[in-house]
Amino acid sequence: MPILSLQNISKRYGAIQALSGISFEVPKGAVFGILGPNGSGKTTLLGIVTDVLKADTGTFTLLDVPPTARQRQRIGTLLETPNFYHYLSAYQNLQVAASIKQQSGQDIPRVLDIAGLTARQHSRFKTYSLGMKQRLAIAAAMLGDPEVLILDEPTNGLDPAGIAEVRQLILQLAQTGKTIILASHLLDEVEKVCTHVAILQKGKLLLSGPVNQVLVREDFVELSCNDN
Ligand code: ATP
Repeated sequence: MPILSLQNISKRYGAIQALSGISFEVPKGAVFGILGPNGSGKTTLLGIVTDVLKADTGTFTLLDVPPTARQRQRIGTLLETPNFYHYLSAYQNLQVAASIKQQSGQDIPRVLDIAGLTARQHSRFKTYSLGMKQRLAIAAAMLGDPEVLILDEPTNGLDPAGIAEVRQLILQLAQTGKTIILASHLLDEVEKVCTHVAILQKGKLLLSGPVNQVLVREDFVELSCNDN
C-alpha cells in the first residue's frame, strides 16, 4: 500500500491552472521530493494533500480513507515558518506547540533529542542559529510521532550550515522509517536527500519515480539543460 496516492488532481485559481491532472504514488519509507521551479504548483499540491486546499478534480488517499482527525495525527506538517516566541526557550516553544495540537507534551524530550537540540533546549529561541530554528520547527512537526512528515521547502532561507543540518536531520528521520514528502526547487537537494521524485512544471507532472531512475533519463537531462 502506498502512503500517498494521487489520481488526476487538478486545481485552478481563476485563470491560472495551478495543477493539471496530477497522478503519482509515494511508497512507504520514501523521502519523496516534489521538484519544480517557482510557480510550478508544489505548494498547491502540498496544500491539497494536507486538506488546507480542495482540489477541483481528482482524488487522493493519504494513509487511509476517509481522513479523520485521528489519521491527521499520523501526519506532521511544516508548510510555513512557525510563529515561535523569541523570548521563550525551545522547550517552552514546544510546550506551546504541543498544547495547540492538544498533546500532553510528554513527547518533547524525544523530539528535542531527534533534532539534536537537547543541550540547548533551555536557551531562548532568539539565540538559535537559522539551522537550529528550522530543526526546532521540524521537531514541532514530529510531536506525536507521526508516520508521515510533509515539508514545504524545508531549507529555504537557511545559510549553508543550516541547509546541511536540516538535510542531515531529514536523512536521519528517514532512517527511522518515516515517510517524508518535501517540496524543493533545488535539483541537488533532491539528489542528496530523496529516494523518489515527482517533477512538476507549470502544474503538470513531467516525470516521477525513484531518483536513481528519473534523474538519469534522457528526457530529464534535456529538460534540465533547457532550463539553464
Ligand atoms: P513557490 O515555490 O513560488 O511557492 P510553487 O511551485 O509552490 O511555487 P504554487 O505556489 O503552488 O507553486 O503556485 C502555482 C501557481 O498558482 C502559480 O502560478 C501561482 O502564482 C498560482 N497561485 C498560487 N496560489 C494562488 C492563489 N491563492 N491565488 C491565485 N493564484 C495562486
